[in-house]
Amino acid sequence: MKQGNTFVIEVNPKIPRKLLRLEELANNLWYGWDKPTRTLFARLHPGLWDAVGHNPKVFLRRVDEKRLVEAAEDQVFLATVNRVLSAYDTYHNEPLRRGGNHEQFKEGDLIAYFCAEFGFHESFPIYSGGLGILAGDHCKSASDLRLPFVAVGLLYRQGYFSQIIDGEGNQIATYSDSDFEDLPILPALGEDGKEMHVYVDLPGRIVKANVWQVRVGHIMLYLLDTDLEENTPEDRNITHQLYGGDSNMRIMQEIVLGVGGVRALRALGLKPTVWHINEGYAAFLVLERARYLVAEGLDFASALEAGAGNTVFTTHTPVPAGHDHFAENTVCDYFQHMCHELKISREVFLALGRTPDGPDFNMTALALRGSRFHNGVSRIHGEVSSRICASQWPQLVPEENPMSYVTNGVHMPTFLAQEWIDLFDNQFGYQWRHNLTEQGYWERIDEIPDHLFWSVRQSLKSQMLELVRFRISQQHFRNNGSEAHLDRLLKHIDPLNPNVLTIGFARRFATYKRAALLFEDPTWLSQIISEADRPVLFIFAGKAHPADRPGQDLIRHIQGMSHMPEFEGKVLLVEGYDMGLARRLVAGVDVWLNNPVYPLEASGTSGIKAGINGAINFSVLDGWWGEGYDGTNGWAIKPAPTYMDDYRRNKEDSQTFYEILQDRIVPQYYDRGKMGYSAEWIRRSKRSIGTLLPRFNSNRMVGEYVSHFYLQASRQGELYARDGYVNAKNVSAWKMKILAAWEGVEIRRLYTPKKRIQFGDKVRFEVALKLNGLAPEDVRVELMMRRPNRNEMKDYLHFSFSFQGLVEATGEHLFTLDLAPDRCGHLDYKIRVYPWQELLTHPLEMGLMVWL
Ligand SMILES: *Cc1c(COP(=O)(O)O)cnc(C)c1O
Repeated sequence: MKQGNTFVIEVNPKIPRKLLRLEELANNLWYGWDKPTRTLFARLHPGLWDAVGHNPKVFLRRVDEKRLVEAAEDQVFLATVNRVLSAYDTYHNEPLRRGGNHEQFKEGDLIAYFCAEFGFHESFPIYSGGLGILAGDHCKSASDLRLPFVAVGLLYRQGYFSQIIDGEGNQIATYSDSDFEDLPILPALGEDGKEMHVYVDLPGRIVKANVWQVRVGHIMLYLLDTDLEENTPEDRNITHQLYGGDSNMRIMQEIVLGVGGVRALRALGLKPTVWHINEGYAAFLVLERARYLVAEGLDFASALEAGAGNTVFTTHTPVPAGHDHFAENTVCDYFQHMCHELKISREVFLALGRTPDGPDFNMTALALRGSRFHNGVSRIHGEVSSRICASQWPQLVPEENPMSYVTNGVHMPTFLAQEWIDLFDNQFGYQWRHNLTEQGYWERIDEIPDHLFWSVRQSLKSQMLELVRFRISQQHFRNNGSEAHLDRLLKHIDPLNPNVLTIGFARRFATYKRAALLFEDPTWLSQIISEADRPVLFIFAGKAHPADRPGQDLIRHIQGMSHMPEFEGKVLLVEGYDMGLARRLVAGVDVWLNNPVYPLEASGTSGIKAGINGAINFSVLDGWWGEGYDGTNGWAIKPAPTYMDDYRRNKEDSQTFYEILQDRIVPQYYDRGKMGYSAEWIRRSKRSIGTLLPRFNSNRMVGEYVSHFYLQASRQGELYARDGYVNAKNVSAWKMKILAAWEGVEIRRLYTPKKRIQFGDKVRFEVALKLNGLAPEDVRVELMMRRPNRNEMKDYLHFSFSFQGLVEATGEHLFTLDLAPDRCGHLDYKIRVYPWQELLTHPLEMGLMVWL
């Protein structure tokens, strides 16, 4: 029978006057971290709230007018609206608190933060995983801390994909176009108050991009998109998908982000004084900034130097292959025009992206050459990055090169469950919010009575189980599963009786994260988790990149295991992982598992989200957990040594996993006292919150970016720009002089002091240097001394030699140092010379060094 087509018409309600400010709430991503705001919308119509993917703007367009009119007359509801608005107004109007980082910024300071993805809330799908959510958290904390800050990114029409997992475990990626009307964005207005556009050059054409503005509390995010009629269909596609397409598509995206992003800020009349490249994708901003200075008359090297002085680069990748790179021909095609404007040759241009790893143009290398502040995202990752990037500073030991680290944190208000927020308000008073980074303050978590603590834990677990139950049922019926089968799957998911030990594993399905490690020995696993009175439930979720075949195989493998009779109902895989599901899972499970291949988890953040909610981490000592674990706040899988092959490492690490699960986690969880909970478990869970919350929150993280990098970068940028960039020009000319002469620099000892001296005596050290045309003030001659039993670079004490004149016979430069060691016993020392002058940002930034 013919049924005819179905068409859709959307009927929008008229918002009653008393509720008009709901529209303001819907247009500020503040709702992404303020749960009471979201609850307000949900209360109006819970079903619709879920149906519109927790998107307040769409919600307000589709909710029934009758419902709004009723709500506008409902005194209780209005009181809640007023409470939410008052919190909103307080947040936005509150005078700056004293002692904050912002006080150290100068008038006119502005940090510009560039990233390819941002995760604020599930209703705004321009993120794929950890990197984006970290960027979102960075912005949220910048707002909380009232930093002078703007962020720049791309507005993807389709965002990242939505995930369906079929009965066989195949991941089906679906893309749907966002209607920009649905997103909390508005067209950005230029200095003239009109909608503005920016233009970027691509080979043979100019592409036009829209600029959108997104309110994130106090700060603004600007997003570019190229989906404009004036562009060719191919160019309109540039900002269609996050991490979609081939390397041509990626380079075009990165040009729109890096080059277009700088142009957008300029058109907006914004003048950043600090630039932050968050992962290499945004590194082309370095070239656009240099282009601007070259147009003002600087030579390219000085322009690069001037820009680098106030640029921060954060790398998130622990393997060289993960660093974004392009074929030389590709970059040359796309940057021919730019090279011309920069007045540099193809060779000079290609050298900016060169590494010893191969001929490709490497975005990390470009970012490093275009910045003077560089960091990894955990202590371990900082060390790994120092080694990966060591070739940038060829004569330095990696330990000493300028690659440092700032360990990631998560945004507390976003990821700390509302139940905890309410409990903390009750127990500690409102002030706990101002003590987020005070470690001592959080020892008071022990003051919370165990039964109250446990009831919050159980309530969060019930809510999580409720959601998982719902999602698994939906998934199961869509995949044509039977009712009886569903009952078996949900056997251990009982929101009314949340007493099965539940372990969560949710993150991108990338192979290094080893989601299937627990199935290395299925028999052993089955023994552990199948005891009738001590069952264990595993919940998995996550997306694999559509081009990542091995990642998708992992999903199939886990789905396959979940169908095995011994694991049915004990291993569940929930599709469609996003921030909403993440918030529920991290807060609701008992244990959060992470078992990556060491040291490939640059930081990881999901375990932090779990830990602050009292879910206990059970993870490989890698990334942030390498710093977070203290023996009392979780369980550690000490990684097998890296010299072992993959097969043996998997065996070792999985054996550790089974032993800890069997001997410690399961017995401890089920060691329930009269009250129905394990006191030991609660102790560990409290330790988890008390130790992790103050250390791994994004306010601490952003505070470190401010004190380690932003403030100094701002000063350095100003120093270099002063008087027509004279200092940048000087440094750049000086570096050229050093590079030309350095190979001929030599150091030799003139006088060898006695091997044994009395405490209190001075020893004289004398060295003669061949400076090959350099001046004595171009170098620093240094003695480093430490105890023989110490082996870290930071254990050295440093002493500078002074220049005394020329050695008559040879014309060498004589440097001496008189030193009275302040301790007795054996002391090791080394003597070295490196190029130095006071305008440098980092004393070792040239990466050159000659040792005696
Ligand atoms: C926190 C988060 C991640 C990052 O998880 P890791 O375990 O750190 O990789 C990925 N996706 C979502 C939705 C998250 O909330």
